[in-house]
Amino acid sequence: MSDITDIEIHKKRFTDFLVSKRMRKTPERFEILNCALNCNGHFDADLLYNLLEANGYHVSKATVYSTLELLSEAGVVRKLLFDTHQARYEIADESHSHLICTVCGEITEIAPPGFEVKSCADMLNGFHPSYISTCIYGICRKCQMKKKDRK
Ligand SMILES: [Zn+2]
Ligand SMILES: [Zn+2]
Repeated sequence: MSDITDIEIHKKRFTDFLVSKRMRKTPERFEILNCALNCNGHFDADLLYNLLEANGYHVSKATVYSTLELLSEAGVVRKLLFDTHQARYEIADESHSHLICTVCGEITEIAPPGFEVKSCADMLNGFHPSYISTCIYGICRKCQMKKKDRK
């Protein structure tokens, strides 16, 4: 959950980004950001599109996709490329890890790994890290239970 000040920070970052790129600050782009900020956890372009429609806000899917790309470039959202689904996004706040169930695709967040990006800079061969988002793949508790039931 983002509180008011976080929301203002994200909006300001996006505004600054658009200004620096000489791009227009269209109401659609900020409506999409608002919608993303109201999402808890992960979301994808389809989910945002449906939420916007449900709120009576009509934007094209192409606009949702392109705005998510801009938000990701601006560092406001993180693009998560879990291989189970199309790209998902989340608001860029503190680091955390993801537990990904390879049976049902459920994604759970856990505390971040016990190391910081800066501390591993030496091992990265000049790669410039933005954040750490580890993924642990396996089978969630629900799916394990289902498996047991079938026996
Ligand atoms: Zn599962
Ligand atoms: Zn996450």
